[in-house]
Amino acid sequence: MTDSSNPTHTQIDAFDLLGVGFGPANIAIAAAISDKWSLNELKQNLRVIFVDKNTVFQWHPGMLIPGAKMQISCLKDLATLRNPCSYFTFLNYLHSQNRLSAFINRSTTVPSRREFADYLGWAAREAEKRGVDVAYGEEVVSISKIRVEERDLIEVTSRRSPSDEVVVRRTKDIILSTGPSPRLPRVLAVLQPPQWTTQSTLSVPVFHTSYYMISIGSLLDKLTQSGTPLKVAMVGGGQSCAECLIDLYNRLEGSSHGGHQIDMIIRKDSLKPSDDTPFVNEIFDPAATDEWYNLPTDRLRAQVLYEYKNTNYSVVNPKTIDNLYELIYEQKLSDAIASRKGENVSKTRVNLRINETVVGANLIAREKDASLPHRVTLIRQNARTHQLIEDTYDIVICGTGYERKTWIRLLRESNLAKDFGLASATDDTRVRLVPAHYDVQFETGKPFDNVKEGAELVQEPDNDRHLNTESGTSSSSSTPPSSPSISLPPRSLPQTIQLRISRAYKLLPAPSALDTGNRVYLQGCEEATHGLSDTLLSVASIRSGEVLDDLLNAN
Ligand code: NAP
Repeated sequence: MTDSSNPTHTQIDAFDLLGVGFGPANIAIAAAISDKWSLNELKQNLRVIFVDKNTVFQWHPGMLIPGAKMQISCLKDLATLRNPCSYFTFLNYLHSQNRLSAFINRSTTVPSRREFADYLGWAAREAEKRGVDVAYGEEVVSISKIRVEERDLIEVTSRRSPSDEVVVRRTKDIILSTGPSPRLPRVLAVLQPPQWTTQSTLSVPVFHTSYYMISIGSLLDKLTQSGTPLKVAMVGGGQSCAECLIDLYNRLEGSSHGGHQIDMIIRKDSLKPSDDTPFVNEIFDPAATDEWYNLPTDRLRAQVLYEYKNTNYSVVNPKTIDNLYELIYEQKLSDAIASRKGENVSKTRVNLRINETVVGANLIAREKDASLPHRVTLIRQNARTHQLIEDTYDIVICGTGYERKTWIRLLRESNLAKDFGLASATDDTRVRLVPAHYDVQFETGKPFDNVKEGAELVQEPDNDRHLNTESGTSSSSSTPPSSPSISLPPRSLPQTIQLRISRAYKLLPAPSALDTGNRVYLQGCEEATHGLSDTLLSVASIRSGEVLDDLLNAN
């Protein structure tokens, strides 16, 4: 129904369940619903819709690097661990595509990222065919609770792209699965326009690895025209940076001229391998979620997180490390042979800049051709010698990780904030999810700040800024520092608010709040309470069943 007084405003009737985002977590929920429909375990008239800002289904398109492999078995798909007989298993996808035998012949259960993305798209389409509604091309901009004809509902407002039409829907329950946002070091984030686009990269060539495949082709086309060798900085020492570096090396080697340089800037002393050995991998088993959730103290949580951090963060798959090492070794060999013959090596040079942090950055316009992207001067500081090094690059690519905070903004700006104890939260507030058995002091109007342990468990605004979601300004300086001891501007200790979450991923109301009966579930941001697997695919299938059972049991 369109509001006649405002043609750009469309009001759509109420739903039982609305999911914000249609990535793996919510597709897994859609699959679980569809499975229940086909088994007649759920009434067919349950009105469910998922709203996603992408105009078509896509999964990390910027990281679909040719040849990149998944880092987990295809059995950790959207359904197998919940129900191996589900229609939505990866094996059924393969069967439906007539590739099951060929996949088996590969003798590995690890698919390519391209194939897994195709599987997710297949599952999304199959769920739609089975009655799940999906509104693509709509970004959810706000949520609020309203009372309509004696019913409490959640009103969800989204903006349709590219028409800017505002769409309002009402739902009884909501699942927030807003996914990760790219995180850039503060000194580099301030160089960026608030909204990343391919076009903006052609002016300011500083971007996150999550945009790599979307940006790199056109940027290299533009920059290699002149025939001048390029200098590229890659910031970060995780899997994303390593994969992009190898791809970039191959692209530059294939370009018409040589002499290019890639500097990989890492804060550590060396690239560290990820651990996916079998005993360690048990931390991603569904059973580990219970153990993690039931841990009694922050200290224990922080200890377990620290012990297993190298399964996932700031680490590189050993095979990728070997490939990268081989590439640099070949470089040494070429140098030795060329020097013996008195020749110049024109191959692309890869340098590992270890123990270095980017502490300053500046954009420089090109005098000769203003239509070309700016150049970027970086000031790097060595952590051991404190020496400052200034270098100018044509492209800066940040593989500096992700954060998951969009759900906080949606709740904080909503009248639901009070129900969960978020009413006094600001942009700077640190929000911690804690399990239901924690004794939580809810806000009383005074800032709550009793968190002394487990700082890593807090979703806090740090020195980095994420793009495309919140336009908050940063106070960092982008001017090169002149003194050897570099420090970013001091910041006051932010307020911390604790939010309790149930084992079934449901936010629990603050004790003083009236429970309206509308349920808010979170997906993919409960690492602190539910374990390291929460942001990954490992438990997506099991979790979807747990959320759905919780929803249905209370109805
Ligand atoms: P990540 O593992 O979080 O690594 C981020 C890197 O950025 C770290 O080396 C970190 O350095 C560095 N960093 C963070 N902030 C920085 C700053 N302000 N200045 C300088 N360096 C900074 O991120 P990721 O590599 O994007 O990986 C994220 C997840 O995606 C992982 O689970 C990974 O396995 C997954 N992934 C999977 C694939 C695949 O399936 N093929 C491909 C890519 C990524 P420190 O170590 O010093 O903190």
